[in-house]
Amino acid sequence: MSKIHVLPDIVVSQIAAGEVVERPASVVKELLENALDASATTITVQIEQGGRRRIRVSDDGIGIPADEVELAFTRHATSKLNSIDDLQQLYTLGFRGEALASIAAISHITITTRHRDEETGTRLRIEGGKVLQRQEVGAPAGTVLDVENLFFNTPARLKFLKKTTTEKRHITSLVSRYAMAYPHVRFVLEQDSREILRTTGSGELADVVVRVLGLDAFRQMIPIAGEERDRLTGSRINVHGYVALPDFSRADRSHITLFVNGRSIQDTRLTYALTQAYQGMLDDRRYPVAIVMIDLPPDDVDVNVHPTKAEVRFRSPDTVFTAVQRSVRQALLSALSAHPSESSTDASPAQQTLNLPSSPAEWQSPPSSPPPAYAAQRPSVPLAQTTRHSVYTDDDADLDYIPAGADAPLRPRTLPILRVIGQIGAQYIVAEGPVGMYLIDQNAAHERILYQALHEQLGSDENDSIEIEPQTIELPKQLAKAFEQSWDFWHQLGFVIEPFGPDTWIVRAVPSLLQGLDIGAAILYTLKGGSEPEQLIRQLSAFAAIRSGEVLSTEEMRSLIQQLERCPSPMTAPDGRPTLLHFSSEQIAREFRR
Ligand code: ADP
Ligand code: MG
Repeated sequence: MSKIHVLPDIVVSQIAAGEVVERPASVVKELLENALDASATTITVQIEQGGRRRIRVSDDGIGIPADEVELAFTRHATSKLNSIDDLQQLYTLGFRGEALASIAAISHITITTRHRDEETGTRLRIEGGKVLQRQEVGAPAGTVLDVENLFFNTPARLKFLKKTTTEKRHITSLVSRYAMAYPHVRFVLEQDSREILRTTGSGELADVVVRVLGLDAFRQMIPIAGEERDRLTGSRINVHGYVALPDFSRADRSHITLFVNGRSIQDTRLTYALTQAYQGMLDDRRYPVAIVMIDLPPDDVDVNVHPTKAEVRFRSPDTVFTAVQRSVRQALLSALSAHPSESSTDASPAQQTLNLPSSPAEWQSPPSSPPPAYAAQRPSVPLAQTTRHSVYTDDDADLDYIPAGADAPLRPRTLPILRVIGQIGAQYIVAEGPVGMYLIDQNAAHERILYQALHEQLGSDENDSIEIEPQTIELPKQLAKAFEQSWDFWHQLGFVIEPFGPDTWIVRAVPSLLQGLDIGAAILYTLKGGSEPEQLIRQLSAFAAIRSGEVLSTEEMRSLIQQLERCPSPMTAPDGRPTLLHFSSEQIAREFRR
């Protein structure tokens, strides 16, 4: 140990840099905030090698006067604060006057800046905190900060940096978040000369969210808006943004973005308020995608509690909590209850128009005892059919925002998320939804699902068929003719059928959708309804659907509902019968006179 001495400024800055600059993304954050504080309308971020090689942030903001440029790199030099009281009325993101000094201490910096009111610009070259070069240059108004070789003199930090791809993701996530928080500002992000994100600066948050999440994901998001008045202080707390519908969820919290007064923050309580709003809608350990902007008077929030300003303290945390939770909950409830009322319009022509020779019920004798051969072989509700849609996969835990995923979308949800409670009378499924109780007719629902699936199969080039134990079928004369006429239909669906003798055929493969079905009976029944594709599909779905009287496992019920949720017209069976009845919470409360 040596004698006690005051540390040289550069060492102090390097130590401070350890707090402020944890990783390249921290530099990007500070430079973005400076550009925003300088009233930039366009901010371009260029990154090389995850920021290790270069971080360049250019803005068209106010610029720095020539005689203040060096000062900007001095510790505790700021243009944003004069006295501690100013902190209570702070409208800028920066105030500590520490970022530039810290970054300069651990990198090679070139700054080119021209103040709006000055003729010429200044270029300064700083290495490890020392000014090496200064020159007057012609430059557009604004500032370009070029940070190279970050951590060049702090090998410990360098060693702890994650893979380049991880650092890149952090930066993309960060810039995306700021782009969403500042829709009036045009953001461009390039990584290794590739454009990753570009926003328009239109001022519309929706525009930015589409750019960041992609259109398909955006379709799963709903806007939130709310205001809460604090009882104590009387001040208003405003909440706006976008949150995901419940099934667009993630395995971790990293897709939750919180901004307070334009400042990106982390706050476990507010994150909790948000997830609370999804109560009963999200599975365990699933978290929503959300962009929540909270605005409140600056003196109701203390931003000076954390060196990177990532945490804040609220004067009335409970009110902020309530504001977030309420606005999200309200948005979710109204979005989810809006869906079922958009009831289907393709309620089909009733049975008589179709001239059905017999109804499924007739075909199968009393509902409670379906034909034994069929009952034993009923195709189980195909479980694999429903894939959850997300532009994110679950293994990208620290992926954060990746703009505009090119992922194939699933059909959007047409029903709210329903939770299966059980089955009654071996006929109806009881389910709970966000706005009450639902009774689902299992037969009608499955008919709708099959009808939809068969239509899709008919329209697609790939047939998803499954070989079966070859099975011969013999048809009565007039149906044999209908069968030949509808040859293309069966083939298109994925049936592999060959002639086997007079009015006799052999079936070698069937669409996987109909696996396990008594194929002879299915074809016979289907042909009785007419030979037009629409008639055939209706008959076939009616035949293949789960009957009333069948006991279903919870898994089967869940799968059935999930598939129904994705049907374009989930509210009715193809023949127009309702598939589900909704009893709203209010209705139930009324009945109980609550
Ligand atoms: P702070 O932002 O807390 O004031 P910084 O070290 O980040 O501290 O910046 C120091 C000062 O440099 C700022 O107060 C501001 O006056 C000036 N400055 C930094 N970046 C810019 C910029 N992009 N445009 C204009 N002025 C800037
Ligand atoms: Mg700053």
